[in-house]
Amino acid sequence: MEMLNPQYFIETFGCQMNVADSELVAGMLQKCGYSETRDMTQADIIFMNTCAIREKAEETVHHRLDSIQHLKKRKPEMIFGVLGCMAQNLKNDLLESKPYVDVILGPDSYRRIPEIINNRKKQNGHEVDTRLSKYEVYDNLMPSRQEGVNAFVSISRGCDKFCTFCIVPFTRGRERSRSNDSIIGEVKDAVNNGFAEITLLGQNVNSYRTEEGKFPHLLEAVAMVPGVKRIRYMSPHPQDMDDHLLQVMSEHENICNYVHLPLQAGADRILQRMNRTYSKTEFLNLVDTIRKYIPNCSISTDIIVGFPGETNADYEETLEVMNKVVFDRAFMFKYSSRPGTKAAEYTDQVDEDIKQERLARLIDLQQTHTLEANQRHIGKVLKVMVEKESKKSPLQWSGRTEGNMGVIFDKNEEQIKDIVNILIQDAQGVSMFGNRVLEKEMIHEIN
Ligand code: SF4
Repeated sequence: MEMLNPQYFIETFGCQMNVADSELVAGMLQKCGYSETRDMTQADIIFMNTCAIREKAEETVHHRLDSIQHLKKRKPEMIFGVLGCMAQNLKNDLLESKPYVDVILGPDSYRRIPEIINNRKKQNGHEVDTRLSKYEVYDNLMPSRQEGVNAFVSISRGCDKFCTFCIVPFTRGRERSRSNDSIIGEVKDAVNNGFAEITLLGQNVNSYRTEEGKFPHLLEAVAMVPGVKRIRYMSPHPQDMDDHLLQVMSEHENICNYVHLPLQAGADRILQRMNRTYSKTEFLNLVDTIRKYIPNCSISTDIIVGFPGETNADYEETLEVMNKVVFDRAFMFKYSSRPGTKAAEYTDQVDEDIKQERLARLIDLQQTHTLEANQRHIGKVLKVMVEKESKKSPLQWSGRTEGNMGVIFDKNEEQIKDIVNILIQDAQGVSMFGNRVLEKEMIHEIN
């Protein structure tokens, strides 16, 4: 029997790649006649798009699945599926421990969703497909994006770097790049649908390469698309940052003066064991080069503490790099052992207490640096894109700088997605506060 107005609910865990993948899956479900519901009790399909990057992320998904299994009991014809990296990594475990899960699809199997829905109409039973593909980049599938200012556009999938702590090469497979044409087509489509900011995504975004060119060529082509007000990219690998990329960034007004540059660790010995392919000195030189090309560039990073074998002296080197660079922002984690990765086999794992203590000190230091970096902007005029109404007051906007930091300011006649000049007057926590400066006042100030 055909369902009337069938509805889907997707919950996304983990990184921005997963957000982009969920939008792709939503696009497919809409083509199959489903519409989105925000109320999962009403859904005919529930998909959990999962993350396996850290043990804690996996535990969160396990709890979430257990907490909503009653919905399946109440509505047995509902399709309950697990997508993403956990599906890829833990399919046997899921099949055994969560029999109420009907569908398990790895990140390269989403094209099968329409077929699976059809199969399920004919018979019940599990559908499992976690094969990895050397080619799948989901060209020609249009995502259904959540409303907002920013559109994520995935440009490549998988990763060939094999950092020893990382599960991604195993859950998402080898690196593949989408064609230039299909990416530019998707960017134009996003602009036509009202998005002003584009974030290009890849597990290792700047190793993108096709016969038409490498990442800097693509970035330049995206910058030339009319209507793209801002461009960001996530996450690059320090090894693949080059002068050409920085040159392109410095030449295009709409490419944000912002680089996310994952450090991971400061000591050469640990960087080597992580297989990060750069030394501490090379990383610091790269920061200098970035600041030479783009003097006001904001730089954020990722850091892991307590990697196997990390001594106090190694850890101090991480703090030393942080003090030298003064990152605008950092995403900091305790090392989490992922079965199947090389680092999980290292025998010199660090005690949990030590990891916790190192993380706490790191967070303290970064909080000081973020505030310092923001306070340096006081008295300066920054370009801020209006994103939404401030949570604190309907009379204020909340926007973002090119460096991806939040700014709160009083409303004038500007609209969401406008880029306006804000004179920064205060910085607290991770936010800045300021007032709009109109173009004519800026000219006056310069004169
Ligand atoms: S570059 Fe390293 S950390 Fe990043 S996805 Fe690839 S293997 Fe993982």
